[in-house]
Amino acid sequence: MATASVIDVDYEQPAAQGSVCDTRHAWARVPPEPSPVERIALKERIRRLLRERNAVMVSHFYVHPDLQDLAEETGGIVSDSLEMARFGRDHAATTLVVSGVRFMGETAKILSPEKRVLMPDLDANCSLDLGCPVDEFSAFCDQHPDRTVVVYANTSAAVKARADWLVTSSCALDVVSALHAQGRKILWGPDRHLGDYIQRQTGADMVSWNGACIVHDEFKALELDLLMKEHPSAKVLVHPESPADVIALADAVGSTSAILNAARGMDAKEFIVATDTGMLHKLRTLNPGKTFIEAPTAGNGGTCKSCAHCPWMAMNGLVELANALETGAGEIHVDPALGLRARVPIDRMLAFTAGLKNGQPAGSLIAGIGAA
Ligand code: SF4
Repeated sequence: MATASVIDVDYEQPAAQGSVCDTRHAWARVPPEPSPVERIALKERIRRLLRERNAVMVSHFYVHPDLQDLAEETGGIVSDSLEMARFGRDHAATTLVVSGVRFMGETAKILSPEKRVLMPDLDANCSLDLGCPVDEFSAFCDQHPDRTVVVYANTSAAVKARADWLVTSSCALDVVSALHAQGRKILWGPDRHLGDYIQRQTGADMVSWNGACIVHDEFKALELDLLMKEHPSAKVLVHPESPADVIALADAVGSTSAILNAARGMDAKEFIVATDTGMLHKLRTLNPGKTFIEAPTAGNGGTCKSCAHCPWMAMNGLVELANALETGAGEIHVDPALGLRARVPIDRMLAFTAGLKNGQPAGSLIAGIGAA
């Protein structure tokens, strides 16, 4: 029987003042691939357990294709973290099985405290979450009491509870634009590249925490430029957690959902994609006549950092998911009082995006919230 491989993961953690990063280590335990026969049996077991436990799967675009396909096939969803949160909150199932990383399970629990939330592996983390400890982040906020605190979804419940607004990459530009239009100054955290991109797009007055995603931080503009010369007709799709010089080469910049829409909407036959390679499964399934090429990373390091696949997303496997459903292992718990506080900025984000969809003006959706 093959065993899980444990890999070391470097990530940057800001110093107390939030200005200088030093590198820390974490780890990820990537499960072995089941054999074809084991996969069939595991999927059947999961389908049965989902029915028996009144459970629904909520999977992120970056997890293993098996967990994406099974979610859709059984009435669940594959999506970005914004839609995962909304779907889990609104679904009638009493158990949510969240395949992704820990903050996604916590968000689901905060929004649905009455539901049981299970994850295949509770140790699946995120360098943005790890690199933004609440005490240091809170001290950073305390240094800027005149700023509206906007945090990315990839944070702990405690950091969310400290924020005025939560955003995902799907709605971050809209929220910061609306705040900027009302003259607010922003404290942003934790992804420095996304914060920098939003600042350049909106012109908002922003100070940023200094975190990064270990996957997107690795894309390299020089190598991307060379690849673009090999594929001159390819369109370049980039996630805004990538460095600015990579974003500068993009034909479309956006969240995972925006990347999907761009690939569907553009006439091109070839695309170079700078986001986690887990995304390629959905891109290829939805666009059979088109070719998707991975954008280059550092490439020579031989560590998980150079493969453009999140080692924590890779911890989600069929075996772990079946065990969670069978035994209740991997249940997410969030302190109820903390959950209530963390829910405030999440609800604001969900109300804001729902209002925008219904044609309400952005300014009316943020009035008075987080004002200094
Ligand atoms: S891909 Fe990056 S942002 Fe997403 S969970 Fe992994 S480390 Fe975090």
